Amino acid sequence: MSGTASGARARPVKARRTVHVDIPGTRYPLHIGAGASRRLPEVLRGRKGLSRVHVIIDARVARLHGRSLEALLREAGRPVSRTTVPPGEQSKSTPQLTRLWRDLVRAGCDRESVVVAAGGGVVGDLAGFAAASIYRGIDLVQVPTTLLAMVDASIGGKTGINLPQGKNLVGAFHQPIAVVMDLDFLRTLPRREARAGWAEVIKTAAIRDEGLLATLERRMGALRGMEPGAVAPIVEACCRIKAAVVAEDEKESGLRRILNFGHTLAHGLEAATRYGRLLHGEAVAIGMVFAARLGESLGTTEPGTAGRLEALLRGFGLPTRPPRGLSPARVLGAMDVDKKRGPGGVRWVLLARPGEVTMTDGIERNLVQARLRDFLKTKD
Ligand code: NAD
Repeated sequence: MSGTASGARARPVKARRTVHVDIPGTRYPLHIGAGASRRLPEVLRGRKGLSRVHVIIDARVARLHGRSLEALLREAGRPVSRTTVPPGEQSKSTPQLTRLWRDLVRAGCDRESVVVAAGGGVVGDLAGFAAASIYRGIDLVQVPTTLLAMVDASIGGKTGINLPQGKNLVGAFHQPIAVVMDLDFLRTLPRREARAGWAEVIKTAAIRDEGLLATLERRMGALRGMEPGAVAPIVEACCRIKAAVVAEDEKESGLRRILNFGHTLAHGLEAATRYGRLLHGEAVAIGMVFAARLGESLGTTEPGTAGRLEALLRGFGLPTRPPRGLSPARVLGAMDVDKKRGPGGVRWVLLARPGEVTMTDGIERNLVQARLRDFLKTKD
């Protein structure tokens, strides 16, 4: 890896885009583009009084990109230490969190140290929560390496871990000081993970931007091939949408809930399959189809919306039906434990039409159960 400023001159950062998240009391940049990780030294040098950088990195990402990433972190001129986290949702756990706390203390981190979370949403959530809780909170830089983490998990400050009883049941809001999204990382992303990321992109478009949905339909080929020139404006559009939503509602008391479109059933499916069969994005894809169909059956969602969404999801190679053999009672039970409940029961985010959502707490459980039973029986 090349040196500091001269390195940056020798290999200029391509196609840089920066979007800002503006939350009352906090403003941070999202640097987007192929080669964007070369902005890390500058980001860290901008942190006054920086004592140490501790990178918490997904083990697979460490094998593929760890060396070059650490070289960049060292360019900030402070000691760099690291903890590697095993890949997979199972790592969002109390044992891993405890391990991180100990590592941070043993490495010599103090309140002036910065945690760099490098990996997908799992490491982002876990390392983010470690940073939020150690010494009552130290600074965090998110370096998302999956498409899903770029367009969703790394923005907005939600951090946390799972419990055996359900996903994300323990956590904190902890905004990063910067997010660095290097699209070059996407080159090594396994295809299935890339597809799962497209599900969150499609979700973002479905809830907020019909024009973006149309672009996804039109540019599907280039996007599936992860062509950086095609992907960059889409990631940027999603970042702008998420940044605007969290700026308006940081703590999810209102608008931010729209980001949960498709997630009510998704979390039920993930829990009912013990987080082992479906990737989060796949579960969200199925959940969106169910929510759109449920909305159409209630007369809430414009007819034809579910079909359009299904066609797009299939086009990106995503599942649109749940795995065979799941019992509706088990899925519903898992949804009941999910924390996205309102006083009137499970809270549903439905579409009014593509690009626009509506929220409701009042759908009768029996009706959802009947629709779910039908949905679990349908085939692709
Ligand atoms: P992930 O973190 O498990 O990463 C997916 C897989 O891709 C892992 O096996 C990882 O090793 C591998 N990987 C990551 N980057 C790679 C790269 N560049 N090249 C090769 N392999 C790579 O999964 P994810 O889909 O990124 O994130 C899912 C998690 O995000 C879930 O736990 C979900 O709850 C969470 N999430 C959080 C938020 C939030 O607002 N905090 C939002 C959405 C999702």
